[in-house]
Amino acid sequence: LNVENLRRAYAETICATAGSTSASLIDAFARVPREHFLDPGPWRIAQPFDQKEPYRETPDVRLEHLYQDAAVGIDTTRQINNGQPSAHARWIDAAAPKPGEAVLHIGCGHGYYTAILAEMVGPTGRVEAHEIDPVLAARARTCLSDWPQASVKLPLSRGSDAAADPHSALKGPFDVIYVNAGATHARRDWISSLAPGGRMLLPLTVHVPMFPHGVGFVLCIRRQVGRWPARLISPVGIFDCVGARDAEAEVQLRRLLAPGESNRIHAVTVEPHDRGDDCLVHAEGFCLQA
Ligand SMILES: [Zn+2]
Repeated sequence: LNVENLRRAYAETICATAGSTSASLIDAFARVPREHFLDPGPWRIAQPFDQKEPYRETPDVRLEHLYQDAAVGIDTTRQINNGQPSAHARWIDAAAPKPGEAVLHIGCGHGYYTAILAEMVGPTGRVEAHEIDPVLAARARTCLSDWPQASVKLPLSRGSDAAADPHSALKGPFDVIYVNAGATHARRDWISSLAPGGRMLLPLTVHVPMFPHGVGFVLCIRRQVGRWPARLISPVGIFDCVGARDAEAEVQLRRLLAPGESNRIHAVTVEPHDRGDDCLVHAEGFCLQA
C-alpha cells in the first residue's frame, strides 16, 4: 500500500463529492494524515442513520478505513466525532481560505480540519483554533505540532460569554471564521474580528426531539459594506456552540427549518435597525434577512 496514493485518491473523491474543484483543497486533504489525529485502530466509524448502532468498529487497522467519506468517533460515549470529510470539504470550499490569510477555527476537536485549513493558508498564514473541551484542546495542540502556523486556545469561561474574558480576546482581523458548532447567531466578537471581505462559515441550529445535537443549516456570510451576502451551503446536525446560543433567536430560527424557508435567506445585517418585513431572524447585532 502506498499511503500517499491512498490519501490522494481519497482527497479527489471527497472533494468531488463536495462539488469542489479547488486544487489547494484537494492538495490539503492529500497531505494531512487523518490517522495522526485519531487513536490507534481499530476505529469506530459513525453510522449517523442507525439509531441503534451509531458506530461500527473496523475489523482491522488498515488505513483504508479512515480514507473514506465517514465520520470517525473520537469520544463515542459523548458521540464526538472527527467529522465527515465531504461536509467539511464543502464548507471549507465555501469559505475559500487563501495563502497568507488568517483563520479562526471555533470547535476544533483533535484538529484534523485545523490542519487542512493550515495547509491552505500555508506557512505565511495562521490558524487560531478554539476548543472549549480541555481534553480535546490538549490533544489538538499535540497533533498540530507539525503545523507551526496553527495554535490552539482553550476559552477559559466555559458556559459564559468568552468575549468578556480578557484571556480569550480575539487577535483579529480574520479572513475566515470557520465555526464547527451549532449557534443561533454570530457572536459579536466574531462579527467585529471578521476582516473586510472576510468569510464566516456559520452552522445555525435548533433542538429537536430524538437528536443528541442541534439540526439546521450552514451559511457562508461575506463581510462587505452594507448588507453582508449570505449563501446557504448545506444542512447540518452538530453539537451546540457554548456562548453562541440565544433562546429568542432559536424561536425565530425554528421557523426557517420548515421546507424551503431557509432558501429565503440572502443577507445578514449587523447594524441596528427596527424589525421589518425582510427580517427572518431579528436579533440584536445579527439579523438574517430575505
Ligand atoms: Zn432585522
